[in-house]
Amino acid sequence: MFVHDLVLQGKPDSVAFHGKDPVTYTAFCEQIRKYRNYFYMSGIRQGENVGLFSRNSAEFVYCYMAIVSLGAVVVPINFQLTAREVAYIVRDAKMKRLVTMEPLSLESELIQQEYVQKVKQLVIPEIKETLVQTALSDAPALPSDFDENQPCAVIYTSGTTGTPKGAVLTHKNLVSDAEAFQNMLPVHSGDNVLCVLPMYHCFAWTCAILNSLLAGAAITILEAFAPKETIVAIKEFGVTVVYGVPPMYNFLTRVGEREDLASVRYFISGGASLPEKVAQQFDTKYGKKIVEGYGLSEASPVVTLNPIQKPKYCSIGKALPGVAVKVVDPDGNDVAPGRVGEIVVRGSNVMRGYFNLPEESAKVLKNGWLHTGDLAYEDEEGYFFIVDRLKDLIIANGENIYPREIEELLYAYPGIIEASVIGVPDELRGQVARAYIVMSEGKNFNKKAIREYLQNNIAAYKIPRDFIVIDTLPKNQTGKILKRILREQASQNDKLV
Ligand code: AMP
Repeated sequence: MFVHDLVLQGKPDSVAFHGKDPVTYTAFCEQIRKYRNYFYMSGIRQGENVGLFSRNSAEFVYCYMAIVSLGAVVVPINFQLTAREVAYIVRDAKMKRLVTMEPLSLESELIQQEYVQKVKQLVIPEIKETLVQTALSDAPALPSDFDENQPCAVIYTSGTTGTPKGAVLTHKNLVSDAEAFQNMLPVHSGDNVLCVLPMYHCFAWTCAILNSLLAGAAITILEAFAPKETIVAIKEFGVTVVYGVPPMYNFLTRVGEREDLASVRYFISGGASLPEKVAQQFDTKYGKKIVEGYGLSEASPVVTLNPIQKPKYCSIGKALPGVAVKVVDPDGNDVAPGRVGEIVVRGSNVMRGYFNLPEESAKVLKNGWLHTGDLAYEDEEGYFFIVDRLKDLIIANGENIYPREIEELLYAYPGIIEASVIGVPDELRGQVARAYIVMSEGKNFNKKAIREYLQNNIAAYKIPRDFIVIDTLPKNQTGKILKRILREQASQNDKLV
């Protein structure tokens, strides 16, 4: 099945998008047809990469489906990026056209970049106007040799660890991941799924959009997360399934009343590790369990999910049906249950490679296995537990320190609402841990008491040398704490000292 065929699963009269003006599946398909004709008329053809730069909206979905139904490839771009960052992706993906909600004013330095200047911008409000005024003739159907192994999207990964690379995902990659997810966590046609995570990110796209369409469910789109507005929307539209990232659940535990989220049957968390304290506070407040999953853009993205009947705290759950997941040592050999190694993944959800980067692709795709760069162990029951990212591992005096272990302890400490631990250079030990802490309002930071608490729980070599209290941690939209920024700040501050 192609990604754009998923829209045919819903009953014609049932609601596809909730909101002030609900959109039925019939109207949804009609919109896609119109946008498709427009894009064809604009010159979009099979195989070309087309940028999509927009906040969450029904139009985002129309444009995405219309582009891929022509056999072209969507490059969804994080709308928070600056023109400079967008220009990087535009060039890297060799785009000729960029569909955008608002015309992008390219900064003067970019205007000198001839390539970016030539990119044609197709502005959604203008397209809408044309479509109201003009009836366009139907674009031709896809050639019969176009199959589901053709690329559908190039996803520029979050860039938490460096230069973004475009993961090429085929129609089959995305549809098979949505199907495997559906097998483990069935959403049905009566459900109403909240899409508040950004659609440019694969988590929202595959789970909140594709999986909902597969089920013929309704979708409630919110442009961005704001705790109170999200609660209002959940109540107003009777949302039954919520996909979120850990900071979102953290916020929700601090606003709202127990009955506010009564309509929801599944809360799913992914994108970053869900601190145990957040999951427990959420459960205590709302009487609902958050189901944690794990994935990465390169795997379309979901890889593991907790079984709804038997979720385990702090675990990312079990492999999705049809997806092979194992833990290996640095030589690629399987490790025994309980031993830490790198998670590797194989299955029809795994990307083809990075766009135009054969060497980078070969580094992560070895013998058919995607090497995730995430450290984990598996228990005897097949549940996986993320220990940390390989890149975040701190090595002090030859000893491994997993920041996540310290972060979990800090989160559990009264008055701390967020914590992140990074490694900083140390003359004697090579590296030591440094903790960044956000205290809740009105709570004081007591370094001595926190040190004592940590001493009672973990070995001395793991205890951070420095504790820095800040107002907020740098995060991206999918809830990942940007340790790269903390590291950069740390190295600049250290130079000043
Ligand atoms: P992205 O490609 O932006 O989806 O980022 C993927 C990365 O997010 C993974 O490689 C993990 O490091 C991290 N991640 C996703 N889900 C989880 C989770 N449940 N627990 C810990 N890390 C996660």
